[in-house]
Amino acid sequence: MSMNISQALGENITAAIQSVVGTDPVALHEPSFDGNESMYLQDCLDSTYVSSVGKFVDQFEFELAKYAGAKYAISVVNGTAALHIALKLAGVQASDEVLLPALTFVATANAITYCGAVPHFVDSEERTLGIDGAKLREYLLGNTSQASGRCVNKNTGRIISAMVPMHTFGHPSDLETLLSIARDFNITLVEDAAESLGSYYGGQHTGTFGLFGTLSFNGNKTITTGGGGAILTNNLELARHAKHLTTTAKIRHAWEFRHDEIGYNYRMPNLNAALGCAQLEMLSSKLKAKRDLFSRYQNAFVDIKGVELFNEPDNCQSNYWLQTLLLDEDQSDNLDVILAITNAAGIMTRPVWVLLNELVPFKDFPRADLTTSQSLSRRIINIPSSPNLVLDKS
Ligand SMILES: *Cc1c(COP(=O)(O)O)cnc(C)c1O
Repeated sequence: MSMNISQALGENITAAIQSVVGTDPVALHEPSFDGNESMYLQDCLDSTYVSSVGKFVDQFEFELAKYAGAKYAISVVNGTAALHIALKLAGVQASDEVLLPALTFVATANAITYCGAVPHFVDSEERTLGIDGAKLREYLLGNTSQASGRCVNKNTGRIISAMVPMHTFGHPSDLETLLSIARDFNITLVEDAAESLGSYYGGQHTGTFGLFGTLSFNGNKTITTGGGGAILTNNLELARHAKHLTTTAKIRHAWEFRHDEIGYNYRMPNLNAALGCAQLEMLSSKLKAKRDLFSRYQNAFVDIKGVELFNEPDNCQSNYWLQTLLLDEDQSDNLDVILAITNAAGIMTRPVWVLLNELVPFKDFPRADLTTSQSLSRRIINIPSSPNLVLDKS
């Protein structure tokens, strides 16, 4: 019985998506280069400044900070490196614990381990797809104590020094609640805003609420530099330190090579920044196209039972990086059938990441109850989300 029902739902979903994007094969998310990309890249080649210094790096950082309303932006090689340095400068020490959602991309947990720290997985909520603040507060009340102004996990004896909310598919987490928890429990907040460039919580850009926020410009993100990332902060000292650490910690000097701490070669090359400058100029038109795509999907899915198109949380403006279907609870057994039917029809659909606590390298790390994350992981389907799906048609 369930086979027929799941096939019918798979076919209904296929028809709804095709009514919006057409019947040609379609990718999940493709970059598009409709602006000054070629010109800036050529300019870069002509100047010979393709690598670690050049005007586009400074320009990209300036424009990015301005756009996000952050005081400072430091561009780096990718979003994972941005998280690594942000956590390090947030004071995360070896064998501290860092809270993060189990429902995130692996980079969030990897960056924590690069600091020698221990990822500690917490649950997400259905309303935002981000950390469930109410549940986290209860959990911390029951499982931690305060010692010398630090939050200590009573079960492991380790300090919980930071938390890393992630704004899933561009939808802002409940930042107000998470900030109040961070204050009450003496936990530093660092936002993994890799997916949420162009997303706002209460009118303020994501990635500017925590001590640091980090962005990614990988090829599948809203805008791309090929590969790249950035650290946002409002703190001048920390911004300077982040720049220093990501550029091999070299002391400025006309000819001397002197480095005053162990640094990293994480700087974004000028070539990538040139691409980024052109992509940033196109950001608002991409965001508009993504909202239009959402409206079209909303019309297409309005009468389809068993599945809901995910809408931005209250008081938020989302970039709609990846459009998301949420299967009803009683349809969660049908996830694989629906993925098979849509992909066979040439529509690239994908499930959400395997929960990080289930991955071999992370399976022995501490975690809270993850009931909602487990449910969401069987119910989320991302559907084609490229801005050019709308732009090509208008
Ligand atoms: C893309 C992404 C990152 C960073 O990815 P890079 O490929 O290193 O730029 C980090 N966290 C999340 C949630 C992401 O989606």
